[in-house]
Amino acid sequence: MPEKWTNWARNQSSNPHNIFKPNSEGEISEIISLGVAERVKVRPIGNGHSFSSIGLTDGFLVSMDSMDRIISIDREKLQVTVGAGITIADLNEELHKIGFALPNLGDIDAQSLAGAIATGTHGTGINFNSISSAVVGIRIATGDGSILDISESKNSEFLAPSKVSLGALGIITSVTLQCVPAFNLKILEFTAKLPEIISRFEFEESNADFVEFFWFPHTELAEIKICNKTASPSSRTNRVSRFVNDEVLRNFGFNLINKFWLQFPNSVNRSVKSLIKENARPERIDASYKVFCSKRRVKFLEMEYSVPREYLFDAFREVQSVIERLSFPVTFPVEIRTLCADDIPLSMASERETGFIAVHLYNRAESKNFFHDVEKVMRRFHGRPHWGKIHNLDSMTLANLYPRWNEFTEARQALDPDGHFTNPYLERVLGY
Ligand SMILES: Cc1cc2nc3c(=O)[nH]c(=O)nc-3n(C[C@H](O)[C@H](O)[C@H](O)COP(=O)(O)OP(=O)(O)OC[C@H]3O[C@@H](n4cnc5c(N)ncnc54)[C@H](O)[C@@H]3O)c2cc1C
Repeated sequence: MPEKWTNWARNQSSNPHNIFKPNSEGEISEIISLGVAERVKVRPIGNGHSFSSIGLTDGFLVSMDSMDRIISIDREKLQVTVGAGITIADLNEELHKIGFALPNLGDIDAQSLAGAIATGTHGTGINFNSISSAVVGIRIATGDGSILDISESKNSEFLAPSKVSLGALGIITSVTLQCVPAFNLKILEFTAKLPEIISRFEFEESNADFVEFFWFPHTELAEIKICNKTASPSSRTNRVSRFVNDEVLRNFGFNLINKFWLQFPNSVNRSVKSLIKENARPERIDASYKVFCSKRRVKFLEMEYSVPREYLFDAFREVQSVIERLSFPVTFPVEIRTLCADDIPLSMASERETGFIAVHLYNRAESKNFFHDVEKVMRRFHGRPHWGKIHNLDSMTLANLYPRWNEFTEARQALDPDGHFTNPYLERVLGY
């Protein structure tokens, strides 16, 4: 009886033929060869934190959980080589111990490193890039089971494509990351009227290191998060008040609101409005990775698109209109972030300065129509979908959105010409 696999948000599940947890590159090569011999597709998987069907397979699912160790450290170059299955949380702790850090991170740290880079997981910062940009080397088991070393000096034509690979080029076994010296961030967070938050965001975008904001639908309020690098030490925080804010209000209380929402969708607006007030949280200083990442315990569904930075607020206003027209309330905030352009073929920020708009719904809500309407807006602004989040685009449309698309398809032709790692999601977005 095949074992069932389900993602974090519980909106995707499959019954893989087998779930493998290899301990070595040798075992990975054997699994791939077995798949080829038995004509069973092989799919690498991380921690199941994608909302899209990117990880689904009825073939061999290969979890990299056991390959999660630090392999080597180059203190001179500030580089580490790590097993691809390490979680971002464990990686952050290990880096901190040796005085290193990643330059930028996303909202959470539960993903595996390989899963995070495979989908171009990102945070915010107009002068910064996604986690994938920190990759300077990769070892990957390709379609014929052989292991390929990829870096600037070896097989360099595959380096950029393999930084965001959707798991389509092979099974990444280890990753070499360019780190920076560990740093502290000072964080300022406050809630105010949306026009004030937007003008502060636009100011801080070029003045602060990292800035993002969250608009609370059906209200005129938004929360901004401004982070700056600082040489000052971590501040002493009131653990009780942080627990109340981060866990009781943002996770437990929020979960209750969403359960209530399912029962009484029309009365939840009032509850949300009465909970969200203009306020400022005390400034605090902490290690960068503790500031970038938070816990998200309430299960939700997410769609995120990137648009050219210059269209960010036009697209945002149209998303606001979509929400206003809905017949039910949206209880999750809309998140706005930015990123510098990069040179990775399938990155959401490939060759363009980028603004991100993310919309979320409780995972038990009916999301189809809402996401469909948001997607229509995004398409008008040349939006590119997050590979790990919900979207409906296909290869014909996607190919026109990425100037370096062919570089990726050529790499795939070379590394997995027969599509051993494919699944229905990849068939849709890549064409086979
Ligand atoms: C609560 C929450 C918050 C999030 N916040 C953010 C955010 O702030 N920013 C953002 O950009 N995204 C965010 N995401 C999305 C998430 O970062 C991505 O979907 C990411 O891919 C999940 O990592 P994972 O390890 O769970 O990968 P999975 O979902 O398990 O897999 C994703 C892809 O990675 C591939 N893959 C995994 N391991 C390997 C390997 N060893 N070799 C080759 N391919 C591999 C898989 O084949 C698949 O294609 C969030 C998701 C959740 C649930």
